[in-house]
Amino acid sequence: MTNSWETIIGLEVHAQLNTGSKIFCGCATRFGDEPNSNTCPVCLGLPGALPVLNWRAVELGARAALALGLNINHRSIFSRKNYFYPDLPKGYQISQYDQPFSANGVLEIMTADRDEAGHAHDWHPMTVNVTRLHLEEDAGKNVHEGLPEVDRYSYIDLNRAGTPLAEIVTEPDFRSSWQAYDYVNHVRRALLWVGASEADMEKGNLRCEANVSVRRVGDPTLGTKVELKNLNSVRFMQRAIEFEVERHIRTLESGGRLVQETLLWDEKLAETRPMRSKEEAHDYRYFPEPDLPPLIVPDEFIEQTRAAMPELPGPRARRFSESYGLSFADASQLTAERSLADYYESAVEASGNARATANWIRSELSRELENAGLTAAKSPVPATELGALVRMIDEGKISGKQGKDVLVEMFRSGKSAGAVVEERGLVQVSDTGEIDRVIDLVIAASPNQLEQYRAGKETLFGFFVGQVMKASKGKANPKVVNERLREKLKS
Ligand code: ADP
Ligand code: MG
Ligand code: ZN
Repeated sequence: MTNSWETIIGLEVHAQLNTGSKIFCGCATRFGDEPNSNTCPVCLGLPGALPVLNWRAVELGARAALALGLNINHRSIFSRKNYFYPDLPKGYQISQYDQPFSANGVLEIMTADRDEAGHAHDWHPMTVNVTRLHLEEDAGKNVHEGLPEVDRYSYIDLNRAGTPLAEIVTEPDFRSSWQAYDYVNHVRRALLWVGASEADMEKGNLRCEANVSVRRVGDPTLGTKVELKNLNSVRFMQRAIEFEVERHIRTLESGGRLVQETLLWDEKLAETRPMRSKEEAHDYRYFPEPDLPPLIVPDEFIEQTRAAMPELPGPRARRFSESYGLSFADASQLTAERSLADYYESAVEASGNARATANWIRSELSRELENAGLTAAKSPVPATELGALVRMIDEGKISGKQGKDVLVEMFRSGKSAGAVVEERGLVQVSDTGEIDRVIDLVIAASPNQLEQYRAGKETLFGFFVGQVMKASKGKANPKVVNERLREKLKS
């Protein structure tokens, strides 16, 4: 019997750093403007134009590195990566090569196995070796507009040329598509969290390439890899990897050979298609960029950058479980985004009940946010009002069930918890004097049931509860009703 197959994946992530201007000139990085309007001699690659490094890009690159727990080299070198492509008028991209901004980093992520339905179970830590994080400029864009064979035309838009990128390359450390999925989500969250990048794969400001190969378990050599591009979401990437792994195994088991190539993922057809063959090793003829001095990053700069960053997601999740008594699942869901973690903490301050607040956010509020396509930061229910609602339930003013309806209404109308409760006349009655009065009326009106109950027909207790709730228009606190009824039916 032959050994089974092992999947090998290495990932390259390009994150657009969230600067207002480009990395080597003062042009705006804004998208959606008139094509080629945000350009100048530097980013158009006109002869004689000189690049000047934008320190904001270095700062955000440093934030990215620190958020991922990577070291930063005190000295790194910009290099020219030479290749010919229409969206690269200079004929080279300014990147970093043998002396990058950060090298040989180690990253710990949490990863989980998934069942058939894609549900995660058994979360556990995993170490990922990060080969490098370097700074570089983006290229322009080839734009194709109009209908094929009708009025199709193409042009180059250089508004994106010179936008700062951080490229993060891992060793071929991943052994499943889900590990790759968990890694990219980890990176996305970290970069977004510290404001280094908007990290949105759909908008293309986070781009990910997956290198995939398979080999027999126990084989020490790596198999032929393919490079997957056009992955517009983390889930698409996961699916594309699965598709390729199956194709590789099928090909190899039937005696076929794989070619090293670049493939594009087509999400509609759920398959890959070739972009270009990559069989020949490309020769970029890297050499140091003569127009830029070495990038020197002093210790003080790194420390200042670190000090200016918010508490990172990992430590924050740990603090949530320790000081609020949350489970790992709760703490990690509430730190999925910084705005959500901030929301949670303000809501807890208002509610005084950390666990109940976590539950309300994770279930009821998350559902409303998801339906509306909103993040916590844009929630129509402010954190303090969610906290107020949880407090009302805690104090027995309204029931949990009523609370759910109140939240939906708060979400819809933007009204406060108090306003909705009052408007709907929901305030729950817990006052024993008032409840006793209702109970007395109910008992007086049901002499037959009372007699049967006292004769031993205990199932009638439910009848009395129902009558009291009805008479109170559902406002009586059921717990108090139960207590008082038992008492009164005895005598
Ligand atoms: P290239 O020169 O084609 O870009 P690199 O050696 O620079 O290749 O590696 C690019 C990425 O591919 C890295 O993330 C690396 O970990 C990954 N990689 C390299 N070889 C393999 C392989 N055989 N299978 C899967 N991933 C690989
Ligand atoms: Mg590559
Ligand atoms: Zn420019």
